Amino acid sequence: MDFTLSKEQQDIANAAREFARSEFPKRALEFDREEKFDLSLWKKACELGLVGVFIEKKYGGAGCGFFEHCLITEEFWAAEPGIGEAILASTFGSELISLFGTEEQRQLILPQLVSGNAIIGTAITEPDAGSDVTAAVTTAVRDGNEWLINGFKTFITNGTTAKYILAFCVTNPENASPHKRHSFILVPTETPGYKAVKIRGKMGVRASDTAELSFSDVRVPAENLIGRQGEGFRQLMSFLDRTRVHICAQGVGLSRAALEESLRHTKARRQFGKTLAEFQVTQFKLAEMATRIRAARNLYYEAAWHVDRGKPDPAVIAMAKWYAGETAVYCSNEAVQMHGAYGYVDEYKVQRLYRDAKVLEIYEGAKEVEKIIIARSVLG
Ligand SMILES: Cc1cc2nc3c(=O)[nH]c(=O)nc-3n(C[C@H](O)[C@H](O)[C@H](O)COP(=O)(O)OP(=O)(O)OC[C@H]3O[C@@H](n4cnc5c(N)ncnc54)[C@H](O)[C@@H]3O)c2cc1C
Repeated sequence: MDFTLSKEQQDIANAAREFARSEFPKRALEFDREEKFDLSLWKKACELGLVGVFIEKKYGGAGCGFFEHCLITEEFWAAEPGIGEAILASTFGSELISLFGTEEQRQLILPQLVSGNAIIGTAITEPDAGSDVTAAVTTAVRDGNEWLINGFKTFITNGTTAKYILAFCVTNPENASPHKRHSFILVPTETPGYKAVKIRGKMGVRASDTAELSFSDVRVPAENLIGRQGEGFRQLMSFLDRTRVHICAQGVGLSRAALEESLRHTKARRQFGKTLAEFQVTQFKLAEMATRIRAARNLYYEAAWHVDRGKPDPAVIAMAKWYAGETAVYCSNEAVQMHGAYGYVDEYKVQRLYRDAKVLEIYEGAKEVEKIIIARSVLG
């Protein structure tokens, strides 16, 4: 595997870095404090061709690999994680449409996502179904030419901003296998009975919209089923193979930012007649951060390499996701430590990084779940 970036890949990363560094920092504090986001920034990123680059050219995308999407993610998260999440999670679900949707569904939805005309979300988690997705009880019952959907979802990214939600619903309750009971159904959010309430008070990624959803006798056409009925769990595993790699890039970007801030601060701040960077204990922290970042990046590059060749390796993806999350938590924690009291206030970026990092060990598979996948692979 050769991970030297091509000229085109370098150009993509540079364009993402330039955009993010010129647009995100000036808005970061306000968006974080007020838990808000300005959708015009997302539209601008779409106009620059930085959203959904992995979507095929015939649907308006750049036809790049998932790897290029990860390069953009790393740059956006290095600039400001919450804003990076608000922009790039706007396509969260496009992978399901690309992989399993009908031609009509792809033509309807994918061009809107890359052009900044629609946001999509994917709703799996429920109040009593988190890591164990098979426990999801939201139902979709076939009624003539329609699906009738009832239930609740929670912690759903883009819940209040999305034009479409892919809802993970029980469609085959009688099936003996818990892995064959669910299907994804496409729900336009303007459909009567769909309700989203923003969740406030998140620890981090506060610019990103997260919501509780309720489906109360929501009716959508029968053709809004994604793929074959009862295949939702299998589809979800393929979906996570892709989106988890994206999370790894988030962790590397955030860790990079923590290192950059630490370098800047420890070279400038003087105590006991020296800069903090002159203390060996500081140097060891910086050395460990740099090493972990490189290792985490190599892992996600490898994971993305397999995905783009059509052979995702769940164990490598799990290793990459667990390690990137842990690296982000480690680096942001050390960054706050090196900033002392300054790192404890939100005017300093490292405070936000510290809060933003934690979610990487929770969403799209808690780190313990990732380790279960790794252990299964190791044990054969
Ligand atoms: C900001 C944010 C955005 C999100 N966006 C979405 C979204 O768009 N769509 C969506 O569907 N969901 C979303 N989620 C939900 C997320 O995917 C879940 O939080 C995650 O799957 C874990 O589920 P849970 O929080 O219910 O934790 P639980 O499943 O209750 O687990 C709690 C803890 O128990 C431990 N644990 C669980 N299972 C095991 C096990 N088998 N072995 C050992 N330990 C275990 C882990 O430490 C875990 O962290 C989001 C969450 C957040 C915070």
